Formats: sequence, structure tokens, C-alpha cells
Amino acid sequence: MGSTKMAEFSGIVVYRKDYRERDMLVKILTDHFGFKMFFIRGARKKGCKLAAAILPFTSATFIGTINDNGLSFISAAKEVSQFQMICNDIELNAYSSYILGLAEAAFGDTSSLGIWYERLLHILQVINKGIDAGILTNIVELQLLSYFGVKPNLIGCVVCENQTSQFDFSQSFGGLLCQNHWHLDPNRMHLDKRTIFFLRRLSTIDILKVRSINVKDETKKNLRMTLDQIYNNEVGVNIKAKHFIDNMVNWPTEILIDRENEQTKD
Ligand SMILES: [Zn+2]
Repeated sequence: MGSTKMAEFSGIVVYRKDYRERDMLVKILTDHFGFKMFFIRGARKKGCKLAAAILPFTSATFIGTINDNGLSFISAAKEVSQFQMICNDIELNAYSSYILGLAEAAFGDTSSLGIWYERLLHILQVINKGIDAGILTNIVELQLLSYFGVKPNLIGCVVCENQTSQFDFSQSFGGLLCQNHWHLDPNRMHLDKRTIFFLRRLSTIDILKVRSINVKDETKKNLRMTLDQIYNNEVGVNIKAKHFIDNMVNWPTEILIDRENEQTKD
């Protein structure tokens, strides 16, 4: 039997879906209880007092009942604020959804995220300020890898532990290879120096201290490609928002230009 408790907690609304005729199921990432699914009775009716608090990408302090097993409930919300820029920008929305989806896949619905709650909150706050969402996504991807049981050695050469040579990344060796050992893996990724530098740097950076990011487009592409290979070959999670991000590259430029115009109209 699971336990039930009344609690006041902070949370971030991750997504929601209609349930029956008048109700909704709302997934909220909470500070103390991790990801929880909440049943909101009457959420689809006009005048629902929780309407603003259960919009996606809203953070708030909630009062409710937490069930270890099954659905939880909310009775009130205060200090409600929305990540406005994320809500208004389809691209930032996709990155943020993917980041939260990845965390949900890593931690599941049963455990507190500990320090990761603060980290994810900070990531959303800086995405919402316009800091490079693609790189912030890479940081989360790199630092969540170990929760999926994947621990690439990005500290030094997997074979000789050299930490100062020129490196490449090898999937079959599970980490860096120094130049002396490149011959051991003909299928190594052939990454340039700069990409390797950022892989190492982003995998250890203190997320709570990230304030600004400046990475060249070419390096961004390489980081995206590298993480796609690692995630596709070794993690294998399937998150809808990621397919959306992958397809954004193929969007006709007219759509992107329209979007920019819309944004400057305000
Ligand atoms: Zn070596």
C-alpha cells in the first residue's frame, strides 16, 4: 500500500491531457516528490480556479494531496508564474519539453529528483531568458547519461588515462581515446578539438551557475550529432518533442521568418 499525504510543494507543469468530459490529468515536476500525475476535477470547465496554475510551463506553489501510487490532487495554488518566452516560442517549447521528457524518463514517477529539481528549474529560467536552448539541452543530455546507465569517460583516454593529449570519442571504447590510441578504433567519431572541448566542459559544468553560452554553429551541429549517436545507440529513449526538434531543421524558412515577424510585432 502506498501512502497519502497533504503537502505544500513547488512544481513545474510539464504537460496535461484531457480526461473524461470535464477533467484533466496534469503532469507536474515537484520539488520533493519528483514527477507526479495530478487529477484536476473540472479543469475543462469555465471558471476553474486552477486554470492559470495548470498551464504548461507554469511554476507555482501548490497545496494538495500526494499519493505514492496512483493519481495525486491539488486543492490550491499560489505564486503562479509562467515561462512566457518558452510558451510563445515553438522552438524553445520543444527544447523545454524534451529536457523535461528526458528527466521524466531518467527518474520515473516514484522518486524525488533531489538537486535535479533546482537544476531543471534553472535550465528553464535561462531558456526563458533567451540563452541557447540547444546547448542547454546538450548539457542536460550529457549530465543525465549516467542515470540511463551510460557513463562515457570524458576525463581522459580510456586506454592510457592521458588527460592532456588530443582526443577523439569512441563509442565502442565508451569514452575518449588519445591520439596514440586512435588506431584501436577505426570507427571513432572523428570529432574536432573544439567539439571534444565542449563535450568535456559541458559534461561537468555546474548547471546552477550557467548564465551565458557562446558556441559556434559548426560546433553546435557536431555536439548535436554526437549526442544523437550516443542517445540512439546506447540510451534509446523515445521522446516526442525530440522528433519535433529533429524536424525543425527541415522547416521551410518562410515559417521561421513569419515567426520572427510575429515576435517583433509585439
Ligand atoms: Zn591513450
